[in-house]
Formats: sequence, C-alpha cells, structure tokens
Amino acid sequence: MALAFVNGRYLPHAQARVAVEDRGFQFADGVYEVVAIVGGRLVDVDGHMDRLARSLGELRIAWPMSRPALSLVMRELIRRNGVTTGLIYLQITRGAAPRDFKFPVPAVRPTLVMTVRRVARFGSPAQLADGVAVITIPDIRWLRRDIKSVSLLPQVLGKQQAVEAAAFEAWMVDTDGLVTEGCSSNAWIVTADGTLVTRPTDHLILAGVTRGSLLRLAVELGIAVDLRPFSVGEARTAREAFLSSATTFALPVTRLDDQPVGDGQPGDLTRRLRQAYLEAVCGVRP
Ligand code: PLP
Repeated sequence: MALAFVNGRYLPHAQARVAVEDRGFQFADGVYEVVAIVGGRLVDVDGHMDRLARSLGELRIAWPMSRPALSLVMRELIRRNGVTTGLIYLQITRGAAPRDFKFPVPAVRPTLVMTVRRVARFGSPAQLADGVAVITIPDIRWLRRDIKSVSLLPQVLGKQQAVEAAAFEAWMVDTDGLVTEGCSSNAWIVTADGTLVTRPTDHLILAGVTRGSLLRLAVELGIAVDLRPFSVGEARTAREAFLSSATTFALPVTRLDDQPVGDGQPGDLTRRLRQAYLEAVCGVRP
C-alpha cells in the first residue's frame, strides 16, 4: 500500500488529508519539488533542496522541519514504499488558517506533504528512439516563474492542449516570440554549428536542476554553450532540440508545431548529454 507523509505522519494515501483551510488549497500559497529516484538513490538532490530553500525563502514560508530532518524523512518514505525507480514529490504550503489573503498572524505551522510513486523509466524507449512532439503556446504566467510554486494552472491548460494535439509538451512563448520554457521542463536547441542554446535563468523561467547539471556536463564535454533565448523559428530550423526535467532527464524533441526539427531524428548531442547525465548524476553504469 502506498504511503504518504503528511505533517509528521506516514499514512496510506487513502487516509492522507490536508485541512480545507489549507492555504495551498485556498490560494496556491505553497511550493513543491520533484526528485527522481534511480537505483534507490535521490538524483540531483542537493540542487532540488537548494531550490526548495530558495522558493520557501522568496515566499517567506518557514521550513516545516530542518533540512537534514527533511532529507531523512524523504529517504524513509522511499524505503517504506519500497521504491527503487520513481519520483518523490514534496509540497510545502504556508499552512492552514481561516481564509484571509494576508499571511496568518501568528504564523501557523507549514503543511508538509510527501508522496512517492514508482515509474518504469524517465523517457520511454519510443520517446528516446523517435523523440517527442512539442507545440508552442503563449506564456500566460505570472512574472515570478523562478519560484517553484504549486500555482500551475497555465501549465495544466498547456499540457492539456499538448495532449489534445497529440504532443508530449507545450513550449511557452513570450510576447517577443521567444521560447521561455516547457510547462514542466526547460527548452534547448542545438544550432547548425553545434552550439547548445538555452535561456539564461532569471525570474522568467524556473532554474531547472536538471538544466543546471546538463550545462555543467556540457562544459566538461567541451560543448560550446550559449545562454540566450531562442525564437520558435530558430527552434524549427535547429539541428536538434530537446527538453529537460527531473522526470524526463534530457529527452529529444523531433517535432515542433507538427513540423520536423532538423532531420526529424533525435540528435547526437542530446544523446550524449543524456548518457552523461545518466552516468555522472544518476550513477548508472554505461
Ligand atoms: N520548468 C518548469 C516550469 C518546470 O515545472 C520544471 C519541472 O517541473 C522544469 C522547468 C524542470 O526543472 P527540473 O529539471 O528541476 O525538474
């Protein structure tokens, strides 16, 4: 039976509850993280915990327990669920208090929810062999996308639009026609001369933890990197495109708005980066 961790207790999912007055439910006043589990180990966990600290700090939400204690509970929840390949989700909200927009005074205890799920893999064999299709949509989100907030309605609508167009992901586009990022991933291209291009991090995108690790690996591999925004047109004619996230690692994008990207096949650089990530970060032997 799947167990969740809710405010200090390990509970079967069916019995796991948060209060109706929880500010996560009332106002989306909370943050989250998703960390991959490979071979029973948490992938890129320091990066995820650092980003969690930043998200909490930006919203002035207190840690529900110390960072070392949280790390222990994450590992214990994974152990109790017997998951060796999967994902752990952490949600922390400002807590439960009578509905009122401003922060509760005195502060209430933050709500902590953790769940673990087993996944077969981070990108299916078909997705790796053929690449995935992506559509482009206007970016209608707020301007603090650097915070990993549970306020995800634009992404819910974007992913639904993608599914209805038989695509895997939607890349969001700003008013200048430049790609910001995917609904739950960062966006990348490789130019004709083999340069890796992805948008620099600021308040307009989420600093993907997978993105950060892939960039470090690219530098180690001697790949030229250009941190700049790219347009939808440039992506269409790029040599390669891919997306990155904790749930997919690096996944080739071979169709954009129903047109092939490059030769329509997954690219070599994407493959090399994914392999390097699996070996160097996930600890998977070649
Ligand atoms: N951008 C957005 C909007 C996301 O929601 C995510 C992940 O959920 C990412 C990028 C990728 O981040 P990470 O690599 O840390 O999973």
